[in-house]
Parts: sequence; C-alpha cells; structure tokens
Amino acid sequence: MGSMAEPAPHLFEETGVAMRLSPLVRRILAPNPSPFTYHGTQSYVVGTSDLAVIDPGPAEEPHLAAKIGAIDGHRLVAILCTHTHRDHSPAARLLAERTGAPIIGCAPLALSDDGPRADAAFDPDYAPDRILADGEQLAGEGWTLTAIATPGHTSNHLCFALEEEGALFTGDHVMGWSTSVVSPPDGDMTDYLASLERLVARKDAVYYPAHGDPIAQPQRFARHMLGHRRMREGQILRLLERDGPRTIPDMVAAMYVGLDPRLIGAAGRSVLAHLIDLEGRARVRRGDERWSRID
Ligand SMILES: [Zn+2]
Repeated sequence: MGSMAEPAPHLFEETGVAMRLSPLVRRILAPNPSPFTYHGTQSYVVGTSDLAVIDPGPAEEPHLAAKIGAIDGHRLVAILCTHTHRDHSPAARLLAERTGAPIIGCAPLALSDDGPRADAAFDPDYAPDRILADGEQLAGEGWTLTAIATPGHTSNHLCFALEEEGALFTGDHVMGWSTSVVSPPDGDMTDYLASLERLVARKDAVYYPAHGDPIAQPQRFARHMLGHRRMREGQILRLLERDGPRTIPDMVAAMYVGLDPRLIGAAGRSVLAHLIDLEGRARVRRGDERWSRID
C-alpha cells in the first residue's frame, strides 16, 4: 500500500516479464494495480549468478511463476522485504518454499487483533529467517546489499543499497509516482521526515521504488518530497490559524481539492500523521475531534 494520487501516464509494461534496468538489476511487475499501488508492485531481481529478490510482492501464482522464470535455476541467496504491507511480502513464503531461499530483511510487526496495528494492509504471516539491522550487509557473487533503516511509511521499513551500482531500492519510502501514505499509529511522520533527510544526505545514483519508474536524480527528488511535506504542514498550520479548531475531514476537504474519493481515507491518515508530528513539537493540540493551533 502506498500512495494517494491519480496514476500519471506511464510507458506500458507487461506483468510477468523481467525487464532489465542495469547489469545487476531486473524488475518484474505484479498484476495488482490499484489507486494505492499504481500499475502494481515491482519485484526486483538482483545479480547474474547468485541472485536476490527484493519485495516478492503479493501471493499470486502468475507473479510467482514470473519470479521462478527469472531465477532460471540460479542460486537464490535471499528473499528480501522492505516492509510487510500485503502488496510486498506475502509471496516471500511461497518463493521460499519453492526455492529453499531464506527470507531476510525487515522485522515483522507485532500485530495485535484488537489494537490499531491490526490493519488490513499488513501481512500478519511474514516470518523472516533473519532480520537485518541498519547498516548490515548481505552479499552474493558480484553484489553487496546494505540495509538502510527508513522508518516512517511503516515502523519496520528498510531500503537496500546496491553498493556496486550506487542504486537504492526504496520500497514505499520514496516512490516514483506519488507521495507515500503515512498512516498512524505504525506510520510516523516524524520518523518519515527524518528518513527522507537521511536519503538527502546519501550519494545514491538512482532509486528503484516498488511502485513507479526509476528515479534518476535521487537527492533532488528526496528534497522535493521533503518540500512537499513541509508544504502540507504549512497548509495545516494556516488552516488552523485562519479558521480555528477543525476536524480532519474538514482539513482534507480544504487541502485535497479534486481528490479521488477512494483516496480520501488515506489523505486523512496523512493529515493525522502531520498533526501528531506537530503535536510532538508543541505546535498544535487536540480536543475531542478538533485540532487547534498553539501560538
Ligand atoms: Zn507500503
């Protein structure tokens, strides 16, 4: 799950085909298009002899067959997940069963049945064989992947840096077509902004997001994403200053003119995430359903 804008025009890409993006990277589009996934989740295959699969995607047989085809009998060293939304990690287990490869990467989330984390967007069955901490590396013949902790979209989100090509697999932290949904309580805007700052400070040459095309000027793109979030924060503060205490649905209606009705709920979650961040910085306070500004 990811974002909240209408899909932009995009070059046609078939699902089930491994498209080569670089000497070490191929991409396979899953057949799960939606207002939250754009054309679908993109799984990446890294390597030429030893291989890794990043974000195996939804547990759908045609997508599994496409990955098995791309692996083509080579040794699969690892199945890596950036995070555990249902469009990213459920195929990990199927692929592990078919290949014997270990599931390595982000931590599972502690989902409770009654708590707010029992979110339909999360994959409750994700069970990694090994969790990568920030900075930990995994290597196969010809490639090295480094885990970069990037909490915010989810608390367990990792990006993976491919050292040999200066590439960063950004999962849903930075996407190629829209902004990411940050949905509390697991999504955290304070963490998200810090994780964007972290990318701005890096020297990656390209981002490969799980949704949307490769991003060729990554630091500039990450700075633009930070600017977009600051713009939203400024909108919220101005609305509260001008019109006094307001509810989140009021704010969404004022901030997201012409939004696809299917995305109004997600927009409300992002506004809530900004408000919680602002509350933490003593800029706003909440009373019942209404939020007001502290000046
Ligand atoms: Zn996601």
